[in-house]
Amino acid sequence: MVQGTNLPPPNDSIQQINTAMSYFLWKGPIFIFTVPLVTLQQPKRKGGRAVTHVSAKCMTLFIQRMERQSQRTGTLTARWVEKWKLNGRSPNPPDTKRVPRKLEYLYHYNVETAYIPIRGTLESIKSYRRRLYECHLSSINATMGQNQMRIQKHWPDTDWNQVWENLRVAPIMEHVRNEWYQAIHDIIPTNVRLQSINVTPTDTCQRCKATDTLEHRLTNCGEAKLIWNHMKTAIATMLRTIPAPIANDWLLGPHFKIWPNKQNNAILWTLAHVVSYSLQHCSSVTLQDFLDFLFRSRWKLMTNMRVQDLIGNYLAVI
Ligand SMILES: [Zn+2]
Repeated sequence: MVQGTNLPPPNDSIQQINTAMSYFLWKGPIFIFTVPLVTLQQPKRKGGRAVTHVSAKCMTLFIQRMERQSQRTGTLTARWVEKWKLNGRSPNPPDTKRVPRKLEYLYHYNVETAYIPIRGTLESIKSYRRRLYECHLSSINATMGQNQMRIQKHWPDTDWNQVWENLRVAPIMEHVRNEWYQAIHDIIPTNVRLQSINVTPTDTCQRCKATDTLEHRLTNCGEAKLIWNHMKTAIATMLRTIPAPIANDWLLGPHFKIWPNKQNNAILWTLAHVVSYSLQHCSSVTLQDFLDFLFRSRWKLMTNMRVQDLIGNYLAVI
């Protein structure tokens, strides 16, 4: 009956764990806007941060443990599984009356094995566990009727799969990736966002009285305009084109796929650093300070053994 310890804990315990995780994730600077936990729990390729979903994780461990124990001859689990004919997969949808509910772990094993994937003959345990986990997560999301992300509703024409893939593969430090993630999810407290929840009376920029959107802060306000124009020229040089086709929305949703990958990576690296630096130093940013920061960051990147594979010589134009 040890298997029962792998079954998901009661909802109020999960709630407490989720509260602790949210506190950990959003501590430090005061976040007025956050990305919902249900989004953070999605895989990175779907716009999440792969934060552990407690129920899905417990259910994955439970299934794996049941499978392992039932395959060992002579174990109590093997005998119970044999008695209730639970070897292999249950038919989909499962017959929930087949096993009495009081035999809790066998009951859940009967129900859950109707939906889970079969392990490939050459598949590693780690890869199989990941597929099991994602399968549980998808089925929980489907049951809960997971809503579309806020930004996907705002910009439905953006290729979000490409945005998340670019964010995932960009060769940048984790704190830079996190800042870019926050910008892409539009949780930076601009006056437009603050006014929408009645925290400020106006949506205009304190410095120049334009509408204070994130795009304005990154591309048009004070020295940020100089920085962005300078970096657009650098990106255009990497692409051997003119700066005009480099769209502002690349900063807040890098939805492009450029070949070769090294060029794509170099452009992602550049965009991420524009966003990260401008968010950190929004009121006191200068072009020279930014370029010093960029040279230091590039030097750190050059110490990476894989730099030639990741980025080639594309950043030499900066
Ligand atoms: Zn401004």
